[in-house]
Amino acid sequence: MGYGRMTDREWESIRKIVGSERVSMGESILDLHSKDESFHQRRRPDVVVWPIRTEEISEILKMANEKRIPVTPWGAGTSLEGNPIPVEGGIVLDLQQMNHIHEIRKEDLQVRVEPGVIYKELNKTLSRYGLFFPPDPGASATIGGMIGNNASGIRTIKYGSTKDFVLGMVVVLPSGEVIRVGTNAVKTSSGYDLCRLFVGSEGTLGVVTEVNLRLTGLPAEFMAAVAQFHSIREATDTVFQIMCSGLSPAALEFLDAPTVQVVNQFKKLSLGEKPTLFIEFHGASATGLKEELEMIKEICQENQSFQFDSGIGREERNRLWEARYGVRESIKVNNPGFTPLVIDTAVPISKYSEMVEWGQKVVKKKGLKGYAFGHAGSGNLHMEILGIPEEKAQWQRVREAEEEIVHFALECGGTATGEHGVGIGKKKFMKKEHGKSLALMKQIKKLLDPNGIMNPGKIFD
Ligand SMILES: Cc1cc2nc3c(=O)[nH]c(=O)nc-3n(C[C@H](O)[C@H](O)[C@H](O)COP(=O)(O)OP(=O)(O)OC[C@H]3O[C@@H](n4cnc5c(N)ncnc54)[C@H](O)[C@@H]3O)c2cc1C
Repeated sequence: MGYGRMTDREWESIRKIVGSERVSMGESILDLHSKDESFHQRRRPDVVVWPIRTEEISEILKMANEKRIPVTPWGAGTSLEGNPIPVEGGIVLDLQQMNHIHEIRKEDLQVRVEPGVIYKELNKTLSRYGLFFPPDPGASATIGGMIGNNASGIRTIKYGSTKDFVLGMVVVLPSGEVIRVGTNAVKTSSGYDLCRLFVGSEGTLGVVTEVNLRLTGLPAEFMAAVAQFHSIREATDTVFQIMCSGLSPAALEFLDAPTVQVVNQFKKLSLGEKPTLFIEFHGASATGLKEELEMIKEICQENQSFQFDSGIGREERNRLWEARYGVRESIKVNNPGFTPLVIDTAVPISKYSEMVEWGQKVVKKKGLKGYAFGHAGSGNLHMEILGIPEEKAQWQRVREAEEEIVHFALECGGTATGEHGVGIGKKKFMKKEHGKSLALMKQIKKLLDPNGIMNPGKIFD
């Protein structure tokens, strides 16, 4: 499909809609919006706009749709699959100035926000009301970007992912039409679930300009533990058994020995450099949590855990989670000059041990260096496989390793992407993962965006 190009006339129209301060074609601004946190190739947009009102976005989309100019929504640009890279140029709508918390309805456990709100900031504000928004991707992501990718994180095992918290939204369709989807009720059986259609659509179907989120009460008590094992299998089998035990951890994270090693160095920790589980429980009373941790300890010991530390105070616990959030940075700092290709498979929990073993086997077979970690309790495995894209033969082996690992996940009944989205990087697995229903996804895209202007080149071509 041929796209229209930005000329002085379109530039002038945008300037009229938002004023000259909120639009830029400056080199450094275009550069900042040409890449996310992935290795995917940079591509500059022609123009970056910072809208602050739904009506402005509606006007811009009307104009862009008429002229067939690509439009890509932008949150904080922390994606890992090239999701917000404007691969066809055109307009980037940077939503970071739409960052108001409109209304906290404590009595309903709900909040109405604009998409540019950073979730960490939102949680700081909500904590004053005894509330929180649990999905937690670690990076400084916006609510709009989390909706775009259906982000999740360490707490998803207990609380769910972004889609489980979005009750209603205002969306501007590619035609410029503004619609409301969803309800303020926490349950509904009313018609097709359009909210869920937009969550995870990576800005390919419209622009989210307002969101009503369900919240959770802040738990009164937290308790954390670290369990260490001699082998990966012992650690991952423990994950399966914990999940089958009826216990409900709020986090259950796996790190292989090389990951623990880089985290130790980067975060100045002194964990044994062995396969490790970080475990956390949330609850109403310390006594209840202690009982749960005792049961976890027994399961770990049955699986030959040689070290189980549950006497972790608040400060130490915060350091542990900071270390877990710092895994990507730790790998980067310890491997200068290398680029990681990120694996984000998720499989049914019974297959988690096999998935991790397969990943390790493939990386070894290809003569590559890799780190394995992930939200084990949700069956989500991240691997960072290192290579140098300019060294063609080596990078080819990295890509082959990715193929073998993702295909194994799909054969296990899993997915190519548990939380990062499809973006550019995981498009090639869509056919295998979705079969005939991929055609239906394409029809939905065609129906909502017949000119294909919204974030082209993502999810599928
Ligand atoms: C160190 C690190 C750790 C990470 N860990 C995790 C993790 O544990 N879990 C996880 O899920 N992710 C993780 N990520 C990936 C990333 O942080 C998340 O996917 C995050 O939700 C992206 O948010 P963002 O605001 O940066 O969005 P962006 O990257 O800017 O955009 C994401 C997508 O949403 C679309 N979009 C943005 N705003 C809107 C809007 N208002 N309307 C419609 N579409 C929109 C964009 O077009 C794009 O397709 C990690 C990233 C890094 C760098």
